[in-house]
Amino acid sequence: DAAINRIAAGEVVERPASAVKELVENAIDAGAARIAIEIADGGKTLIRVTDDGCGIAPGDLPLALARHATSKIDGTDLLDIHSFGFRGEALPSLGAVGRLTLTSRAPGHDAAMIRVAGGTIEPVKPAALRAGTVAELRDLFYATPARLKFMRSDRAETQAIADVVKRLAMAEPSVGFTLRDMSGGGSRETFRADAEQGELFDALTARLAGVMGRDFTDNALRIDATRDGLRLYGLAALPTYSRGAAVAQFLFVNGRPVRDRMLTGALRGAYADFLSRDRHPVAALFIDCAPSLVDVNVHPAKSEVRFRDPGTARGLIVSALRHALAGAGH
Ligand code: ADP
Ligand code: MG
Repeated sequence: DAAINRIAAGEVVERPASAVKELVENAIDAGAARIAIEIADGGKTLIRVTDDGCGIAPGDLPLALARHATSKIDGTDLLDIHSFGFRGEALPSLGAVGRLTLTSRAPGHDAAMIRVAGGTIEPVKPAALRAGTVAELRDLFYATPARLKFMRSDRAETQAIADVVKRLAMAEPSVGFTLRDMSGGGSRETFRADAEQGELFDALTARLAGVMGRDFTDNALRIDATRDGLRLYGLAALPTYSRGAAVAQFLFVNGRPVRDRMLTGALRGAYADFLSRDRHPVAALFIDCAPSLVDVNVHPAKSEVRFRDPGTARGLIVSALRHALAGAGH
């Protein structure tokens, strides 16, 4: 059983950045207003995510670590996933590939903690915590040396973690994020995004300025359009502000960062008349729709999506961007 858990876990947790993604998504799901992420040695020895969200009651701590116990998929509505979670697999998977400690306090309960290492869950113990949750993952892949071998340098893994945190931060302007590197016993803040208040576009623009740079937001057009139940919004840069590589295209579906060929193809198509083949548009675009219109379960890593009607999503992107570009004199 432990072996099966580790194999399944490998699907969900490919590298430290995927563990960070799962833990931060859980904090977002918990309604956190502030999320602090600490890592050491590229996340290989330590990943700690502290949030001020709803917390977990002591009696629910073992359930949080049990495979599929928290599954949001009950078979009747396979496509109806409202929050980030993927079938309640993240924490069991992390507990199978590292030493995971959850310390948490839900309103009206005492704080408690639970530990799991190599898939073995220890009993819940009392703990001290004012509110929220601290999820600490140490020694990732210590029980799976084969995977350890495939990890890249601390530097590369640290970079991948920063990318994940920034992407999640882009999608949640009202949440404050900090990322600290604790390597070598230090504590160095490497990324910070303070919670943005205000109307959607004001908050989003401020957050994107902080993450992608003010030169992007100063050169970007506001996109806001709907079609057949899909809403597209975000910022897309003028053709003059393009890049030599497609490195600054950020796409989100229902608040979740995705990498999807169809969507990037649509983005490219919208700019086709204005950019030569070796230039790439810069954009941060969000599609929101009813969960039933999009399947996010294509892969456990959840970066691909499948729209029930891909033509609508494609058409919406192309027409909204062309309209905005035309309005800006293109
Ligand atoms: P999923 O997110 O798909 O439900 P996870 O394994 O990621 O599965 O998490 C299991 C459960 O543990 C969650 O459904 C949630 O109830 C609880 N949980 C995990 N992290 C947190 C957190 N930071 N704050 C509150 N509850 C959490
Ligand atoms: Mg989750």
